[in-house]
Amino acid sequence: MKIICIGRNYVAHAEELNNEVPGEPLVFMKPETAMAKSDRISIPSFTNDLHYELELVVKISKLAKDVGIENANNHYDSIALGIDFTARDIQDACKKKGYPWEKAKAFDNSATLSEFRAFDDYKTSTIPFNLVLNGKKVQDGHSGLMIFSIDYLISYCSKYFTLEAGDLLFTGTPAGVGPVKSGDVLEGYLASELLHKVIIN
Ligand code: MG
Repeated sequence: MKIICIGRNYVAHAEELNNEVPGEPLVFMKPETAMAKSDRISIPSFTNDLHYELELVVKISKLAKDVGIENANNHYDSIALGIDFTARDIQDACKKKGYPWEKAKAFDNSATLSEFRAFDDYKTSTIPFNLVLNGKKVQDGHSGLMIFSIDYLISYCSKYFTLEAGDLLFTGTPAGVGPVKSGDVLEGYLASELLHKVIIN
């Protein structure tokens, strides 16, 4: 299983980090070992600025290679919420030097994942989701705000990588990212359902 992640897929989030809005998807990966096995996360010792990024996560259901946009929806059928935890201080240092982001994005427990829901349960073209931090809503987005749609991303990524059943696609985060501290409680809602809860040790 591999975890493919998309950066800067929401205009307001790209702008909040003073990044250019991309002309094509910004793709990076996390290894399988990045996936947290618990809903309690410890802040790694190597960062002083661990950020949450709540994202819609699509699970690949059928092998995809060089798939056209029009056929992309045959290759996924379920959706979840996940958090792309990011060591923002390390990422900023990597960006300054033009280095890859893995140290900031792919470390152990840098990804969390909720249960999956059937994609067909969300018939509307926009799937709303939001993140509540210690009782206060901090991120509020929907799939219609994505710069590159899920179908576009699957088609695009399948040009470069064979997507296998079980692979995960983190589709980017809306605006409102920020740091976590010990004791924080993060609650992710998919539409109106509380689907994902993470506690920071
Ligand atoms: Mg992200």
